[in-house]
Amino acid sequence: MSWSAASVSDIARVSLARISDVLLPPLCLSCRAAVEGHGGLCPTCWSRIDFIQAPLCDRLGIPLPYAAGDRMVSAGALADPPVYDRARAAARYDGEMRKLVHGLKYRDSHEGAALFARWMAQAAGELLADADLLVPVPLARLRLWRRRFNQSALLADRIARQSGVRVDAFLLQRVRRTASQVGLSAEQRRRNVAGAFAVPEARRPELAGRNVVLVDDVITTGATANACARTLKRAGAARVDVAALARVVNPLAPNI
Ligand SMILES: [Zn+2]
Repeated sequence: MSWSAASVSDIARVSLARISDVLLPPLCLSCRAAVEGHGGLCPTCWSRIDFIQAPLCDRLGIPLPYAAGDRMVSAGALADPPVYDRARAAARYDGEMRKLVHGLKYRDSHEGAALFARWMAQAAGELLADADLLVPVPLARLRLWRRRFNQSALLADRIARQSGVRVDAFLLQRVRRTASQVGLSAEQRRRNVAGAFAVPEARRPELAGRNVVLVDDVITTGATANACARTLKRAGAARVDVAALARVVNPLAPNI
């Protein structure tokens, strides 16, 4: 019996994977309990994620209490329509999801990105089917330098690999430093990000008439998504949808 080069390299690859499992056994992304494979969650943590389920408001992507037709729009979206066309998020931004987003942002941990991108691609399936281009929400340079990576660009890159829609991380730029949005009211958030984004003049022809899916980790009040959508539309985009990993869903203030 002789070993071909391919089978020897396959054996080497499998052995290396086994060695890395021994060195780094697969752990739950959230609680670090032992799990079957890398980049996954244990059943307990998985059950604590509030995945957003239909029926949804077609504009905001928030769950509605009952189905009342094909394309339903919440009262909040009618009263104060968002600048973007449609948003979809995989889960509510609460307990378990907050921990996962925090890990993705600050722990320099990329291990969940492929799983999160699968959830997002599923939640935003309809949006991706119409999309020409994925554009991540850009980070300010200083924040990018501190954190070393942009979590939205990381997610956009993984969604691109899964959906086949190309990603352009340089089309939309942050041109003004903004204070952190944490702790600001909806109105303060809107003012904080107004005029913070731009599309370089030279890139505008490529954007003309295109359907863009903006990628962000969390939609809180929608101020950042709206500011980005306004900039992209003024620069020529035909449609701007938003795909997020999580979104705040507040039944007391539906149009967040
Ligand atoms: Zn767990």
